[in-house]
Amino acid sequence: MRGEAGMGYYGGVMNCVFCKIAQGQIPAVAVYEDAEVMAFLDVNPIEKGHVLVVPRQHYEVIMDAPEAVLQQVTCVVRKVACALMKSGATGVNVQQNNYPAAGQVVPHLHFHVIPRYGQDAPRSWASGAGRYAFDAERDLYAQRIKEGMKP
Ligand code: AMP
Ligand code: ZN
Repeated sequence: MRGEAGMGYYGGVMNCVFCKIAQGQIPAVAVYEDAEVMAFLDVNPIEKGHVLVVPRQHYEVIMDAPEAVLQQVTCVVRKVACALMKSGATGVNVQQNNYPAAGQVVPHLHFHVIPRYGQDAPRSWASGAGRYAFDAERDLYAQRIKEGMKP
């Protein structure tokens, strides 16, 4: 099922939505950016404030990424998790899917950082369960996370 040599399982960077976000070709609500890593709100959130953390460089799955890149990305995952707790979350899930068999839809390595606001175990893992009522509400969540990421 793999594509041409060097194209990876999914066919390479052509039409990769997260490459386009990382290169500023399509919009996203960013909460963190540096030279190597970007974090932005998931467009179909499991919970309000659901963030995706990606390396700017295209790797399909965690097994492809060099350790140095994973260190940079997971440092940002931790910062986002801290910011979510500061901004009112009572718990945080970190999830990372590799290949369709594990539920990966976007073929660019990413970590889901999902705030939880209740006292019990998560009631839902459904995409869209945390949809925002308005863009202004979404932007408020992004602003709170950005504030929480300041040292
Ligand atoms: P996964 O199933 O781990 O590949 O998750 C992919 C995630 O990317 C899903 O939660 C989608 O809602 C999210 N997603 C897809 N396209 C975009 C986009 N343009 N901006 C933000 N999030 C996106
Ligand atoms: Zn990509």
